[in-house]
Amino acid sequence: MIDALVIGGGISGLSAAYELVRRGFKVQIVERQNRCGGAAVSEKIGGFLMEHGPSSISSSVEGVEAYSRQLGLDGVKCGLKTDVRYRYLVKGGRLHPVAPHPLGFFTSSYLSPRGRLALALEIFRCRGGASQESVAQFCDRRFGREFTSQVIDPLVAGLYGAKADGICLDAAFPALADMEARYGSLTAAVIARKISGGRMPARRLFSWAGGIADLPRALAARLAPCIQTGAAVRRIAAVPGGFSIDTGRNGRLLARNVILAVQPHAAAALVENLDAGAAAALYDIPAPPVSVVYLGFRTAQIRHKLDGIGYLTPQSEGRTASGVLFPSSMFARRAPEGHAAFSVYIGGSRAPEVAGRPPEELVVMARAELVDTVGARGAPVVARVRQWARGLPQPAPGHEQRLDALKKAEGKYPGLFFTGNYFSGPGMARCINNAVETALRAVSLMEQQGPVSDAAEIKYNLQGVM
Ligand SMILES: Cc1cc2nc3c(=O)[nH]c(=O)nc-3n(C[C@H](O)[C@H](O)[C@H](O)COP(=O)(O)OP(=O)(O)OC[C@H]3O[C@@H](n4cnc5c(N)ncnc54)[C@H](O)[C@@H]3O)c2cc1C
Repeated sequence: MIDALVIGGGISGLSAAYELVRRGFKVQIVERQNRCGGAAVSEKIGGFLMEHGPSSISSSVEGVEAYSRQLGLDGVKCGLKTDVRYRYLVKGGRLHPVAPHPLGFFTSSYLSPRGRLALALEIFRCRGGASQESVAQFCDRRFGREFTSQVIDPLVAGLYGAKADGICLDAAFPALADMEARYGSLTAAVIARKISGGRMPARRLFSWAGGIADLPRALAARLAPCIQTGAAVRRIAAVPGGFSIDTGRNGRLLARNVILAVQPHAAAALVENLDAGAAAALYDIPAPPVSVVYLGFRTAQIRHKLDGIGYLTPQSEGRTASGVLFPSSMFARRAPEGHAAFSVYIGGSRAPEVAGRPPEELVVMARAELVDTVGARGAPVVARVRQWARGLPQPAPGHEQRLDALKKAEGKYPGLFFTGNYFSGPGMARCINNAVETALRAVSLMEQQGPVSDAAEIKYNLQGVM
């Protein structure tokens, strides 16, 4: 009998387990793959460092920098290179630089004068939209159609792999809804924050020398004695005083608490026999496939200046890629001297069927994309494809009701907890915060339960349960 079983060794599961182990609880992590980290996979290919999943983490989310420090990772932390000046957006097949500050769109010719005027008038627009408003509806209403289709839509594709009209504002960007409710306009909210000296939520990205996977690696090293990899949980059953967990040929475990830190579809399969409502809600969370094509070139093969973190493409441009990152421009030591690296993102809600094409085809598409936008000439020196059958979970309309169904299941089975990137956004920093908050809820329950040795006295009758 253990205090808690954490299912899933991605950043969410590792962070939740770390919080519990630090407090002296008896914990085990079960991870299906033979390594921890989940979506965070950094691979060295020659002198290149490819990120198959996340490539940076945002320090604008409270707590994540302290986490890096606590785990002894500050010595290998790397910030964005100083010559990273722009985010690019594609218009008419060409890259348009936009400076990353609130006035960036006024100083760039990316938007038409009419689009810029609509943006400037945001402060005068009235509050209030329909409930369950999509991000596109909210932004159309506040900033005008051009800003929504040319800026917000590509941004949403970059963050969620989604379309702006397919995700719910309250679930995806609650801060924007809150700014409108409190200040009447987003411009007014930004000004108010500036005046009061508040920290603007600028995106400050960072990573570590060995790539983003340095973080789960550091956590996994600390948690090593309680991690079991290569073992998939098949079923969870409620038993008196806790849960019985079937891990197939790896046997059965008894835990007083279970933290599910797996992807929504995986969580759905595990709770199907416990709570059909929760399983249905989890199955309903869309996560369209996405592919990452990584290409490395000699710098001399690239015509365009690579002084940005990459580019995003509005849907109206009809391009294959929803966005491209320039990893070797973002952080040091991502490519050998004299070389440049690109991560091309294909798929998501815009083109789920394209993400599943054979890898060789995806490489051809990605090369054609880079010929057009950055003037890449000749064959890449390195090419790798990672296909995610399920990409990022999207907070589609009805997301809050789905999360309510999970809360109900937690209420029905005290000791059952859900965490993961479908709660507070896909960013790893948000996953960590959600996992820590979930672990603290488990702690307060365990404090009422008393030490686990007492629980060992409970006699289990597992017959007929599994
Ligand atoms: C292409 C891509 C790019 C991204 N870019 C960024 C970025 O730049 N910055 C950023 O912050 N975030 C980014 N993200 C999002 C971020 O990577 C994820 O949201 C985050 O890593 C999710 O962590 P998690 O632990 O919740 O889930 P996961 O990482 O998915 O981990 C879940 C784990 O559960 C395991 N599991 C599943 N079923 C079982 C079972 N039955 N038994 C045991 N184990 C099981 C899985 O094997 C997996 O290891 C990106 C994601 C993708 C896919």
